[in-house]
Amino acid sequence: MRLVFLGPPGVGKGTQAAKLSKEYGVPHIATGDILRAAMARKTPVGLEAKSYIDSGKLVPDDVIINIIRERLGEPDTKKGYILDGFPRTIKQGEALSKMLDQNREKIDRVIYFYLNEDELVKRIAGRWSCPACQKVYHTINNPPKKEGICECGTALVQRKDDRPETVKERLAVYRNETSPLIQYYEGQGLLSKVEADGTVDEVSEKVENAFQKSSS
Ligand code: ADP
Ligand code: ADP
Repeated sequence: MRLVFLGPPGVGKGTQAAKLSKEYGVPHIATGDILRAAMARKTPVGLEAKSYIDSGKLVPDDVIINIIRERLGEPDTKKGYILDGFPRTIKQGEALSKMLDQNREKIDRVIYFYLNEDELVKRIAGRWSCPACQKVYHTINNPPKKEGICECGTALVQRKDDRPETVKERLAVYRNETSPLIQYYEGQGLLSKVEADGTVDEVSEKVENAFQKSSS
């Protein structure tokens, strides 16, 4: 099972990918999480990515494509994976196709999540995440059992790029650079559209219907 989760920031891709990854036993590969971990460790990639991430811009394609090439070479990806937040440009989409072609593999389905912008902004405004295990919460929709503390015991943090001024930029970047991928995958007959309203469980039911229908 090779899935791509596509959609604007805050739509719930990460939440859904984490849930499905547990259910299906395939890794959840989120380029945002990989970059934030690299930033925390101050690796060369992390140091290069920081200014792009903090200002809401995309990290250059070649940096991201190298990260994905390495990650997809790991043995745990043999049974499949869920890509969350990659590809984010047509160039990244083409690079992914090439990588898969070389191994005679293909993407099974691209799930495109959509939601109105007011709701996206509310989801992002309430997002708190764990810097240790990456689990994501929402102050109102999905609060942690103990306020401000992850189930793993670590203090939750709010992402710097979730500040309102950066969110505006990220939504514009999504419209200009990422949304062309919707047509790109629609043209390949791979796209399923899922409206991401409703509870987390309601959305995951829609996702599972979308890819089970496509694989039957
Ligand atoms: P993305 O990975 O697309 O940026 P996240 O999965 O991080 O989105 O979700 C953004 C925020 O919205 C998080 O705070 C998350 O807890 C919350 N959230 C996710 N799915 C839902 C949902 N179905 N209903 C309400 N809130 C949600
Ligand atoms: P969200 O789902 O809320 O948009 P992510 O965690 O996926 O957030 O991404 C956070 C930031 O990391 C992006 O704004 C961008 O700077 C960088 N990033 C993540 N994935 C990519 C990618 N595939 N290409 C370029 N930049 C990326």
